[in-house]
Amino acid sequence: MIKFFIKIIKNIFTTFVRACDYIISGRKEFSITTDGFDEDKYPFINNLNIGKKLLSITNEYISDRYSIVVINPVVLELVKSREKDFLNFTWKEENLGKYHSQKMINEKYHMIYIMSGLPIKRFKAIIAHELMHAFLYEQKIFTDDQPCREAMARWIEYKILKDLHSKKDIEHILKIKSLKHGSGFKEILKIEKKARKKPLVRFLIENKEEALNLQKAINNLSK
Ligand SMILES: [Zn+2]
Repeated sequence: MIKFFIKIIKNIFTTFVRACDYIISGRKEFSITTDGFDEDKYPFINNLNIGKKLLSITNEYISDRYSIVVINPVVLELVKSREKDFLNFTWKEENLGKYHSQKMINEKYHMIYIMSGLPIKRFKAIIAHELMHAFLYEQKIFTDDQPCREAMARWIEYKILKDLHSKKDIEHILKIKSLKHGSGFKEILKIEKKARKKPLVRFLIENKEEALNLQKAINNLSK
């Protein structure tokens, strides 16, 4: 019984913290100033404010370079490994982050959870992965297709790791075998060549047939 009440109080507290976070910083997430922010000082990310700065930097980066523009506010939460059971997460090694779309005060916002203590390059790549989920949600792309959404998210994760020259992580991501965890991203790498200089997401939005072909190719991998 006592345990039950503690859990309820914890839940209320978490919701309250998230509400404050949303009201105070959620709306301004994109305008956080990153001037003079020295990334080299933070090899591992276990501080929420640093996490938010990196969220802002990564958001801007994927928007400029890959046309992945997320409109609604994004709220970030770092999760320590001992907390993940409390949040009912089933995190496997492939999943170091989690995305949720939430509603508060009649407005939608995105909730991103990331494992605390990740190395900075991995952290950025996972942020980009979760932002892709937010983008797909807003744009209603691959809404009913989990393997495709995961493939898209893995694809941007892979691109960021490549941009950051994170060799070890690239090897790791290339070894992912299951469609559920985004192994379909290799099909996206093939289609990317067709898009030439156009950002991939724009190419897919403008060429419905190519998007359908990609969807088929990814889902055929399971056969
Ligand atoms: Zn994902």
